[in-house]
Amino acid sequence: MAFTSNAKPNQSGCGYRELNTLFHEGGHAAHFANVRQNAPCFAQEFAPTTMAYAETQSMFCDSLLGDAEWLKTYAKDENENVVPDEVIKAMISVGQPLSAYRERSILVVPLFEHKLYAMDEDSLTPESITALIRETEKAVLGVDVASRPILAIPHLLTHEYACAYHGYLLAHMAVYQTRAYFIGQYGYLSDNPEIGPALAKHYWNPGNSHTHDQTLRNLTGEGFNPSYLAEHCNQSTDSAWQEQTERLARRNKRLKNRGVR
Ligand SMILES: [Zn+2]
Repeated sequence: MAFTSNAKPNQSGCGYRELNTLFHEGGHAAHFANVRQNAPCFAQEFAPTTMAYAETQSMFCDSLLGDAEWLKTYAKDENENVVPDEVIKAMISVGQPLSAYRERSILVVPLFEHKLYAMDEDSLTPESITALIRETEKAVLGVDVASRPILAIPHLLTHEYACAYHGYLLAHMAVYQTRAYFIGQYGYLSDNPEIGPALAKHYWNPGNSHTHDQTLRNLTGEGFNPSYLAEHCNQSTDSAWQEQTERLARRNKRLKNRGVR
């Protein structure tokens, strides 16, 4: 597997977004490089591999980038100054209130697709499809016109990825379930040496010989559960900040005990 990302923070145009690409695609690489089965069919991206299962691995990795734990350790300026609390607080206060809206922005795509593909062929006109888009946006997002045009999302245009967009939302549910499991077990995520081996054993090694749900059961002891993502979306800005600082403190304490900075 190969990917490119100019994640060199001191180069213009190569900031947070590229770092996100590095972590996201790196997560896919870690996954597919660690499938340990006796045939290549267990480690490819087509069925029975699901997009939700594959994206869980990459989105788990890129989810770490928004954590105060990670930011406080790695986000430094050219003079090695650690990112100030105020900046992290500002990131949370900008992002947290939009959490539910962001998940709904994913949901609006598969709901629209579902209705579109169920439409009678004779009634498919530019006007009827536009009306369906507006109706779905209103129902799911509560706005008259969404800022991201549904038909411009590339997944709809390439036939092999049509009807797959819900995979991102399912993956996000699994990511938050996985995060909650690890936080419950160890109190923190960033630089936690227990996480890689656990993911390798339960999520990566079986490849697509296990279903997504099975992999979650094997790691967390619980089947697919969307309530962790819902909890995250319902958190207030203050409680999100509070939770982040607690995890940061636990991480520092655990790593100090291990002799790691
Ligand atoms: Zn991906």
